[in-house]
Amino acid sequence: MINLYNYPLKDLQKLLVDKYQQKPFRATQLFTWIYLKGVKDFDEMTDISKDFRDVLKKDFCLCEPTIFKKEESADGTIKFLVKLSDDNLVETVIMPYRYGNVLCVSSQVGCNMGCAFCASGLLKKKRNLETHEMIGELLLANKILAPNKISHIVVMGTGEPFDNYDNVMKFIRIINDPKAFEIGARHITVSTCGITDKIRQYAKEGIQINLAISLHAPNDEIRNRLMKINQRYPLKELIAATKDYIKEADRRVTFEYILLKDVNDSYENAVELAKLIKGILAYVNLIPYNEVKENEFKRSDKERVHQFLDWLTKLGVHAQIRKEFGSDISAACGQLRAKVQQ
Ligand code: SAH
Repeated sequence: MINLYNYPLKDLQKLLVDKYQQKPFRATQLFTWIYLKGVKDFDEMTDISKDFRDVLKKDFCLCEPTIFKKEESADGTIKFLVKLSDDNLVETVIMPYRYGNVLCVSSQVGCNMGCAFCASGLLKKKRNLETHEMIGELLLANKILAPNKISHIVVMGTGEPFDNYDNVMKFIRIINDPKAFEIGARHITVSTCGITDKIRQYAKEGIQINLAISLHAPNDEIRNRLMKINQRYPLKELIAATKDYIKEADRRVTFEYILLKDVNDSYENAVELAKLIKGILAYVNLIPYNEVKENEFKRSDKERVHQFLDWLTKLGVHAQIRKEFGSDISAACGQLRAKVQQ
């Protein structure tokens, strides 16, 4: 069975033309039924010939994952575990920002990047998510929120999106399509731990999506300790790729910087960070760390978080503190799944 949720419009056109001798507009009709009208039963797609509807029923499905477990926070954050067709579980989070509902999507089952502070990586990567499974996360979220909807997407759940590049890009093309979810490119953010060849590829996609880079350290010594990926793509290379991206895509980037007590939160660290990213069109998102019981890292004190912001601002860096969500419901990255699946 071919899952229709796997195909951006252009790819579906190509499939229907090449393999089924259909006209390209067939794909547009299907998109309209599936995404705009929410119709899943091929028999209801009345402007499609009976013969082709029979073909659709035989070869295609609109299969979706299911919700395995759901937790809701007092602040409105909803976290749910998505059960995939092979029984693997991934987690998805809905965060109610003032400007809209933000969905944090997982891109892999587990993760191999091995960041020392991260709970997601406790479970090694089992496999990449298919495009239709990421679409499934969004469909489930919209069902939970109905009649409200998701307006922003961050690919910041479990997994490294640039380690599953093609499926993630197909997902983005579908959610961005005006005939599907019509989520504006500027409302979509992909976060990477710093796979530089993919950062350069992403720059050439010709779509105005946002890029967030998990920096978390002002120098190689600290970053090597926190992030295994830094041994392969050290800061010099990461900064060079970031500059190339900004030039090519004509976009600014976000650097994510988790504040870890006594690890990367001193005044010297702030000075070094400001120097590292000087002149780069970027702003820094300071992330209060969600503590994870499996490691020793502690979150910086609240006062230090604000002080760090102050230091950076005085050093000429655009920075802000990321709002926290769902601290009462194992919302810290990867914790819900880690709780139920080893
Ligand atoms: N692999 C991608 C995307 C997933 S992680 C990446 O590394 O960017 C999304 C963000 O959450 C990253 O910045 C990651 O470093 C951060 N993160 C992971 N564990 C965290 C924790 N316990 N508390 C706060 N942020 C965390």
